Amino acid sequence: MLISIAIPKPIRNTFTYEALPGVHINLGSRVSVPFGNQTLIGIVVKKEANNEKTLKRIRKINSVLDSRGDIPIDILNLCLWAADYYHHPIGDVFTNALPALLRAQETKTNLFFEKKLSLTSLGFELNQSTKKLSPRKKLLFRLIQEGEKTKEALFKSGIKPYLIRIFLNEGWAYWQTTRKKAEVKTSKLNISYGDLILNRDQKKVVAQLSDKDENRPFLLQGITGSGKTEIYLRAIEPHLNRGRQALILVPEIGLTPQMVSRFEDRFCTRVTIINSSLTDKQRAEAWINAKEGQSRIILGTRSAIFTPLKNLGIIIVDEEHDLSYKQQEGFRYSARDLAIYRSHAERIPIILGSATPSLESFFNAKRGKYKKLFLDSRPTERHPETYRVIDTSQFSTREGLTQFALRSIQKTLNSGKQALVFVNQRGFCPILLCEECKQIATCDRCQVKLTYHQTTEVLSCHHCGRLKSYPAPCDSCGSSRWIHLGVGTERLEKFLGESFPKEEILRIDRDSMRGKNSMRMAIDRIKEDKARILIGTQILAKGHHFPNITLVIIVNVDAGFYSADFRSLERLGQTILQVGGRAGRGTHAGEVLIQTQFGNQETLQKLIKTGYQKFAEHLLKERAHAFLPPVRYEVAIHSECPEQNLAIDFLQNIKRNIPKSKDLSLAGPLPAIIEKKNNRFRQKLILISKEREPLHKKLSEIERLIARSRLPRGLKWSIDVDPLNMV
Ligand code: ADP
Ligand code: ZN
Ligand code: ZN
Repeated sequence: MLISIAIPKPIRNTFTYEALPGVHINLGSRVSVPFGNQTLIGIVVKKEANNEKTLKRIRKINSVLDSRGDIPIDILNLCLWAADYYHHPIGDVFTNALPALLRAQETKTNLFFEKKLSLTSLGFELNQSTKKLSPRKKLLFRLIQEGEKTKEALFKSGIKPYLIRIFLNEGWAYWQTTRKKAEVKTSKLNISYGDLILNRDQKKVVAQLSDKDENRPFLLQGITGSGKTEIYLRAIEPHLNRGRQALILVPEIGLTPQMVSRFEDRFCTRVTIINSSLTDKQRAEAWINAKEGQSRIILGTRSAIFTPLKNLGIIIVDEEHDLSYKQQEGFRYSARDLAIYRSHAERIPIILGSATPSLESFFNAKRGKYKKLFLDSRPTERHPETYRVIDTSQFSTREGLTQFALRSIQKTLNSGKQALVFVNQRGFCPILLCEECKQIATCDRCQVKLTYHQTTEVLSCHHCGRLKSYPAPCDSCGSSRWIHLGVGTERLEKFLGESFPKEEILRIDRDSMRGKNSMRMAIDRIKEDKARILIGTQILAKGHHFPNITLVIIVNVDAGFYSADFRSLERLGQTILQVGGRAGRGTHAGEVLIQTQFGNQETLQKLIKTGYQKFAEHLLKERAHAFLPPVRYEVAIHSECPEQNLAIDFLQNIKRNIPKSKDLSLAGPLPAIIEKKNNRFRQKLILISKEREPLHKKLSEIERLIARSRLPRGLKWSIDVDPLNMV
């Protein structure tokens, strides 16, 4: 028999091998194969009939790996579909989808096997004949005979390592390798509601979710704090009760602990976590437990969408608008969109939840592809936060803050509450201006400004990671005297520390949260009211529930209004409402101050006066007028090369060789927003169409064209289907 195998290489086709006679092979089996002079682990994606003629040139596989690690057919199909949809090499899709240990030679792992202590015949006889054994030895003999005795289990029963050593040395016992058994749990779960009673809105949503005639994906648009998580809990309950599993996707690893405890508290069961903090072994074990049905609730970040589940009942995608669901390099998939595909393929319900849905999902609901559900109120008698714009073209700022903002912080502290200052810029300041020649310090590998970090005394390029020590001499005139422009978290931390000397100021950004436990400790400081002034970037803006924060100040969002990315206003609106939603989650009404020069801008006013629904409608109209996504479909082809011309020529050549068609418009080649990164020049070609079909056809043509052409050395290219970031 011949089989098609996906090889873990950036190659777009599969390879044909000959199976071993008499050895059983499944679709989705992992096989060890010779490839060139390497040995690789591939995935069987197709079986073919034996074709005598071609057989001579075809190599045999080496071996079939343990079938417990096989990829189940639904995940296999998901991967094949994704490779096709994103026009990405199938082998690399599997590399993304599978835990690393399952892509390694099996001998390195003990995932499928365990060692148990067993008696030798000598040990057996001794135990039968002798009465005068010490109590400890007697105990160990008894435990071994009861079976199931792994090292861990023996230690748990109080057996000391030296005793095991005696048994081994005397030849009474040996380690027997056996295959681990799966134990499937399908029992009903215990549910503990506490004293929580659903409010009217929530009841209505729960009723809509259980409508048997509704088979579209649900889009749950609920304002921050409206109790979306409670809806998720109610939604998965009937599925768990029927012995099925629930898959919950969350955008960020920092958000998993609090979500996990809410699900564990409710269902009195362990939640299986799948995110990037797991070791390879933990990850593979989580994968197998999910696949074999031991775990009932699986909660994870982006890549968890590839988790095989024996009996999947429902998928939840929390904060569905979040950018981190889309992988931004290599295999550029969207976990949210794959979740939609998966729910469709497996005929199970899916809920996308957000206070600020992406325009993509918003549009899908509007044209009837999704069923929209609303939560417009908060369950407790809390008032929604109020929004207020402070026009920084009228009021001066000191270190980024207006007098009004400072006074508001003081008032908040006086009333025993906490204040959060949001600024989407880490470091001390984003711009360094030479005092002599007025040049801006830039990275010499990228065309971007260097950020000054005061705590570490470095200049850092946030694009390539390059560091220079501070104060570095100016590239043009050699002077080392710099003017600090703009405001980052460190600068606010310093200034607020001086302004409120008695307060503990807590800065929360990627730099200060490097340590393993720093986020948990920071959350504790906030919850215990020890730190009352918080400065944070995006990582503090999402999902957290801090009931004592009543004031949120959003510092300088001006870039959102003039960025070249047509999505920047959508992002800005989402950020403002998400950050703003941190205010007033307790019993007190919250206030949000937005400092900007663009206070009168129509869209911003819409957002804060009429809310997200009207704001999104407005943006959608603008997108429709401009023929932009989500009203049109988009694909970007990127090229990058140390030589600028070659990057441009590559895309020009594609453009020239692709026949024009009415149903497709092309833009470019255009320089990327950051044209030079890491000494490489980056260009893009944008394809836009009203339908998906012509786009995918064109992409296949383009792939064939590129496969036929000789690429210049150092040129890299990639395809981004449904890009979310304008690069
Ligand atoms: P969201 O996910 O929409 O931001 P959460 O689900 O976190 O909102 O709910 C916010 C808070 O309100 C949580 O502390 C939650 O326990 C509480 N809550 C949710 N539903 C109810 C309810 N029906 N009655 C009382 N409190 C509720
Ligand atoms: Zn200079
Ligand atoms: Zn750089």
